[in-house]
Amino acid sequence: MADPKGFLTTPREEWPRRPSGERTRDWDEVYVPGALLPIVGRQADRCMDCGVPFCHEACPLGNLIPEWNDLVSRSDWRAASDRLHATNNFPEFTGRLCPAPCEAGCVLAINQPAVTIKNVECAIADLAWEEGFTPPRPPERLSGRTVAVVGSGPAGLAAAQQLTRAGHTVAVYERDDRIGGLLRYGIPEFKMEKQHLERRIGQMRAEGTLFRTSTAVGRDVDVAGLRARYDAVVIASGATAWHELAVPGRELAGIHQAMEYLPLANRVCEGDLEHSPLSAAGRHVVIVGGGDTGADCLGTAVRERAASVTQLDIYAQPGAERDEEAEPWPTYPRLYRLSAAHEEARELRSAPAADADARLFAASTLRFTGDERGHVRALHLVGVDAGRRPKPGTERSLPADLVLLALGFSGPDRRDGLVDGLGLELEPRGTIARDRDFATNVPGVFAAGDAARGQSLVVWAIAEGRAVAAAVDRHLSGGTTRLPAPVGPYDRPMTA
Ligand SMILES: Cc1cc2nc3c(=O)[nH]c(=O)nc-3n(C[C@H](O)[C@H](O)[C@H](O)COP(=O)(O)OP(=O)(O)OC[C@H]3O[C@@H](n4cnc5c(N)ncnc54)[C@H](O)[C@@H]3O)c2cc1C
Ligand code: SF4
Repeated sequence: MADPKGFLTTPREEWPRRPSGERTRDWDEVYVPGALLPIVGRQADRCMDCGVPFCHEACPLGNLIPEWNDLVSRSDWRAASDRLHATNNFPEFTGRLCPAPCEAGCVLAINQPAVTIKNVECAIADLAWEEGFTPPRPPERLSGRTVAVVGSGPAGLAAAQQLTRAGHTVAVYERDDRIGGLLRYGIPEFKMEKQHLERRIGQMRAEGTLFRTSTAVGRDVDVAGLRARYDAVVIASGATAWHELAVPGRELAGIHQAMEYLPLANRVCEGDLEHSPLSAAGRHVVIVGGGDTGADCLGTAVRERAASVTQLDIYAQPGAERDEEAEPWPTYPRLYRLSAAHEEARELRSAPAADADARLFAASTLRFTGDERGHVRALHLVGVDAGRRPKPGTERSLPADLVLLALGFSGPDRRDGLVDGLGLELEPRGTIARDRDFATNVPGVFAAGDAARGQSLVVWAIAEGRAVAAAVDRHLSGGTTRLPAPVGPYDRPMTA
């Protein structure tokens, strides 16, 4: 560390967001452009370069955080980029999207605000692109072995990049018309502009990775034929089978899954559509589900100029401070957080309730009612206790003419016939079963990312992509690999 007293003299300062009134009038990223670089060097200087860096352990990729903090505080951006890319293929994605379990594990966070690790990561990644520190790295020689990767989300992309760089010939099959998985169709533009995705795809093409879009394996391509044609197959098809809400009135028009709604907004930003057919404009929107997917619906509905937006969370409102008994440092605590989208939702709320939160906590949906044309008009809910038991006398109704269900995902989508066509065994919870080497029950077929791990995070998807690539390389080369892999634990549920 350039300044051993940095953590004593410099307060935590985050990359500022644009005023919410401004950013809800466009789809650009929420942060003030150009405002990160001037502050990030001093922020990196707050790192104490701890003997045992818990942040490093808390990051699923094992990012070498104290090393690149030190390099940034000394303005050695090229070396910082090299150390960052040594463990993370796509730091500009995690620098924008990761919930940063590393910061919860930062030693400074025991009694002070943590180092802004995620911001430092993003600054290094963005500057690396600007300065040309990340040119394509095609392999020096080809192995003559071939790999098919099914799915082009962060897990498939990380696996494909690692395997291509190791000299294998890799083709990525994607059923959508564009590459990126949930980074493309799911995560809104205001959280990550798609130019970052395009830049990486360009890099991967230049390295030799092949992409086959609009090709659903199991439907457009025969699975047995695919298995026979390639030396190995990696299944990284995500966990997009969504949970349903089985309450009276669910069949009414105007009630949609979040993942029916969000991709249409992505398509508007891509220029495919002028308006979303499910636009929230002028409608009373209720989002059922308190997680990040629900928050993405919220930010999207605000930008579409909804009349009102409410997000229901079945859990009680968490506290603002870590509960040291239940969730001690360095675990990732459940805290009351005001995301950018929650801040923006206040735009729709009239004074004097301008400070009100768009979320209703400890609320459970009872039923929907509609008009004579069969369109939803109201959502009826009840307050619940910690055991999700209804609390008498807390029933109420909300006006609702667009309801979005964001209740999570159970496992891979089986409609294309990929899972059943290959005869893949599943875990009881519906994810693809695999051993510690990421191998499924079908010889030569491996599984990674949400498809095998269950609904998780971008950082875990990249970590799994890197780890499955090392396992496939070992399989193809008869026992050795030059590919580094994060150490997991891959059998543990998501930690953030
Ligand atoms: C709305 C939303 C917002 C999120 N926001 C965040 C966030 O801010 N931060 C974060 O860390 N995580 C976030 N997540 C979670 C994160 O996006 C996922 O954990 C991650 O994308 C999983 O990566 P993956 O590569 O395993 O799968 P996916 O990204 O789901 O990609 C799988 C791909 O496989 C393709 N596919 C499926 N079947 C076939 C087939 N038969 N043939 C060909 N292709 C196929 C799919 O079309 C898809 O493109 C969010 C998730 C959602 C739904
Ligand atoms: S990837 Fe996430 S956990 Fe890892 S260093 Fe970056 S922000 Fe932290």
